Amino acid sequence: MQIMNVAGRAAIAVESGAIDVAELSEGRFGPDMHALYEQWDMFREWATAGRIAAAAPQAAAVEPARVGPPVPRPPQVFAIGLNYKAHAAEANLELPSQPMVFTKYPAAIAGPFDAIGIPAGKVDWEVELVAVIGRRAERVAAGQAWDYVAGLTLGQDISERVLQTTSSVPPQYNLGKSYKGFAPIGPVLVTPDDFDNPDDIAISCELNGETMQRGRTSDTVFTVAELIEYLSRVLPLLPGDLIFTGTPAGIGAARRPQVFIGPDDILTTSAEGIGTMRNTFFPLD
Ligand code: ZN
Repeated sequence: MQIMNVAGRAAIAVESGAIDVAELSEGRFGPDMHALYEQWDMFREWATAGRIAAAAPQAAAVEPARVGPPVPRPPQVFAIGLNYKAHAAEANLELPSQPMVFTKYPAAIAGPFDAIGIPAGKVDWEVELVAVIGRRAERVAAGQAWDYVAGLTLGQDISERVLQTTSSVPPQYNLGKSYKGFAPIGPVLVTPDDFDNPDDIAISCELNGETMQRGRTSDTVFTVAELIEYLSRVLPLLPGDLIFTGTPAGIGAARRPQVFIGPDDILTTSAEGIGTMRNTFFPLD
């Protein structure tokens, strides 16, 4: 099943468009996206394949401009650094023996087709698979971890490298990755059962049509399940929490010459089975 945010209302995405969840359920679920994650188990039971197929004729086509982030207000956003070997190598950093965890503040979340303001500095891309928590997870073992995942979506961990790194004193790792709009996600959330293998998904991104990153999530050092085990030993993971699972090689800062995002650039980000985001950029004052 695919879930999307249409103008702030939860919808089920089908081939012909979107079915409003609150209308179809006569108010039992939605319309707020987070109301859905709070009741995720009950919603999954209700949203049977038969019910969705029967409602498909009433699906309405959706303009990209009306599509919002599938998780607009995550309680917590975890992000993982250096989770792909080739990316750690291009950054000249050793692979961590435990996940390297940081945050993107929740107010940085944006939609999959939003225009994003560029501050001064060096603004870079990082395509990432994003796991969305669907059930409170506390000290969950990796073997059970997928039971706590509502679904997977696609994200960009956009980063301003000057503020993020030691070229700024002090380095502001989390702030450098949390300018407004620096965490676009979408276009849909896909439940884990929709994938042949949710641990092996092709992800990629293009800047102005030129491929910059291309990888598979099977190349990660720590899997989604291992990350949930690691994080949930420290603190509870909550419905609607996001885990940005790291980026493959090909970021702009590691290119020779370096490439960064400029005004009027178009960043196209794709994941197999999830779809494509298209974000544009404009200069901030
Ligand atoms: Zn990242």
